[in-house]
Amino acid sequence: MPGTKYIFVTGGVTSSLGKGIISASLATLLQARGYRVTIQKLDPYINVDPGTLNPYEHGECYVTEDGAETDLDLGHYERFLGVPTSQANNVTTGRIYQTVINKEREGAFLGKTVQVIPHITDEIKRRIRLLGETGEYDIVITEIGGTVGDIESLPYIEAVRQFNWEVGPGNHLVIHLTLLPYLRTTGELKTKPTQHSVKMLLESGLQPDILVCRADRPIPKEQRMKIALFCNVTKNAVIESLDAESIYEVPLLMQKEKLDEVVLSKLKLKKNDVPELKDWRNFIDKLKNPAHKVTLGLVGKYVELKDAYKSISEAIIHAGVTNDCKVTVEWIHSEDVNAGNAERKLGHLNGILVAPGFGDRGIEGKLEAARFAREHGIPYFGICLGMQCAVIEFGRNVLGMKGANSTEMNASTKFPVIAIMEEQKKVTRKGGTMRLGAYQCKLEKGSLMAEAYGTLNITERHRHRYEFNNAYLKDYQKAGMKTTGINPDSGLVEAVELEGHPWFIGVQFHPEYRSTVAKPHPLFVKFVEMAMKRGTA
Ligand code: GLN
Repeated sequence: MPGTKYIFVTGGVTSSLGKGIISASLATLLQARGYRVTIQKLDPYINVDPGTLNPYEHGECYVTEDGAETDLDLGHYERFLGVPTSQANNVTTGRIYQTVINKEREGAFLGKTVQVIPHITDEIKRRIRLLGETGEYDIVITEIGGTVGDIESLPYIEAVRQFNWEVGPGNHLVIHLTLLPYLRTTGELKTKPTQHSVKMLLESGLQPDILVCRADRPIPKEQRMKIALFCNVTKNAVIESLDAESIYEVPLLMQKEKLDEVVLSKLKLKKNDVPELKDWRNFIDKLKNPAHKVTLGLVGKYVELKDAYKSISEAIIHAGVTNDCKVTVEWIHSEDVNAGNAERKLGHLNGILVAPGFGDRGIEGKLEAARFAREHGIPYFGICLGMQCAVIEFGRNVLGMKGANSTEMNASTKFPVIAIMEEQKKVTRKGGTMRLGAYQCKLEKGSLMAEAYGTLNITERHRHRYEFNNAYLKDYQKAGMKTTGINPDSGLVEAVELEGHPWFIGVQFHPEYRSTVAKPHPLFVKFVEMAMKRGTA
């Protein structure tokens, strides 16, 4: 693996310190200095991928171009870097074991006892090396999920230790992220948990090179010195990471702390010019000082856990910045919406977004939200299940098909306006078997979709099993629900719009996965713009 440098990011003290954001921020800074960077996440759970996890467990499942169902941190990587990730960027313990066990069955280890060391650790190392070996990256950042000291992290830490030995000095770096809690009684930031967590790493044979210390207030010089001395890192390698108002400020905070410079000097890489990050600063500036404001309602059934809709809420932030607009998102539980309270819950909104989802919990509330938006001319943006709800609602209330439904919710409905895709009928295994990843879509000339995208040929990512039932296509078209996006190969309906409505769009795909800081997604941008228009009307 000549040339490629490897950075490992581990976490200590507690989970949820934001390793993903620190990794993405560092990558952003290195990219701005001219390096080709990618980020990989190793997750120590036994699911082969997070596709089978309930969003309450682990937040959103992020889908890559190549159709991998991955950890939501990959969304941050793409949003910050603007570079697509792939299956290789997210590896779980489940996938590692599956590969090793499959090889064992094939006879690849004939005669040998298959063990965590060396077989599991070898497979982990192979996965780390894969991205470097593509030759596409100067630097590969590998984030190790979980917290150091967890039993399940051990094989990863050992694999990193061996990997670093193999690539040799100057080619690797370990960044350890910790927390300095503030003790009110003594008025101090405490360093002991950090020291202990570094000790834990040392026990596994890893000496961190850089410590990124989360704190809710500036770390005094003496504390920095103490951390450096007792954790055996250079003085400039204790990096303060203060709580930020927005995740998009973190690259600037890290630049101020010179994280990128320390990394480059330790990796013996040229520093190149200090990047101005003008676009990035502009973005933050607009984010913090918006000229307009709107309120959008996000109707979903996982709203208690905001991470379940991470990419959607980030895409809304990007679109708000583009429109110089502060977007307040009201999180509306779909189980709480019904015909009796729709006016009270939704009447004040400038726009309504009905979120993706699975199963029938909360579905009636989503249908009610689609009806309310349709009847009151409120900008409507239905994503995946949100599009399917718009179709079901239209079937029931405009086309008079009582009980119209998706066969996902009612397999014996008289009007299956949304039905299982042909290729899905034979699928029995749940993991990784949906229609996943990027597919082409052809837009209708003159449609709202075409106007938003400014082109007729688009590609978007998918994650679903059900589709618009083309047997009803004519009825819908005639009654004013237009199908304005079609997959050119399969004829599947990818987008619907409502005639005579200011802006009503449902898309079968997930545009949110493609919105980045540098390229906010056109549908979200247009949705916010139309919501602003309604707000000022
Ligand atoms: N449950 C629906 C389907 O499988 C929608 C999926 C989604 O919203 N991602 O088709």
